[in-house]
Amino acid sequence: MLPIDRQKQILTWLENEKSLRVTTISQRLDVSEMTVYRDLNPLIKQNKVIKTSSGVTLSTPAAVPTDNCPYCLKPSSGKLSVQIIKENQQIENACCAHCALMRYQDIKNNVSQVICRDFLKDTTINAKAATFLIDADLDLNCCEPQPIIFASRKQAKQFQKGFGGKIYNFQEAIQMILKEMKVDCCCCEE
Ligand SMILES: [Zn+2]
Ligand SMILES: [Zn+2]
Repeated sequence: MLPIDRQKQILTWLENEKSLRVTTISQRLDVSEMTVYRDLNPLIKQNKVIKTSSGVTLSTPAAVPTDNCPYCLKPSSGKLSVQIIKENQQIENACCAHCALMRYQDIKNNVSQVICRDFLKDTTINAKAATFLIDADLDLNCCEPQPIIFASRKQAKQFQKGFGGKIYNFQEAIQMILKEMKVDCCCCEE
């Protein structure tokens, strides 16, 4: 079987079964797991399938980066966008960390992962382990208060020296934004 045929076969299985383990695919196709990974790589790059902790799953149309933000409904295709991967493997694209954190707060029981980008290096990182700088003197032209995301706390601190702001972890950042939004808004009281 050619790689292209195996890829078609994998996509057909995924359409019927939603998700598959790599070991299952390797057994069914009678090829090594290495080969399965090699077959999957282009599909992952084309955003047709998504890698999960247990294997792969079919990418839903919601994964298309032109989606609107689930929180503020702005288009979320920019560099600031943050992906919220839900337990059912659906993906929501928040326009920025602000909306991602607020959305997470609303649906956290259904969230399996939050994926964002390091502000300096543009690498993909797990938001729950990231460092957030809020109220820095830098306007990112999205929702306020706007957290700037860093993979490393050390770099966040270096950035803070130049641009100010305060450093928070994931949970603290959520609480901080909730608090600031209440102060900003006179009409919504919980
Ligand atoms: Zn938004
Ligand atoms: Zn935003």
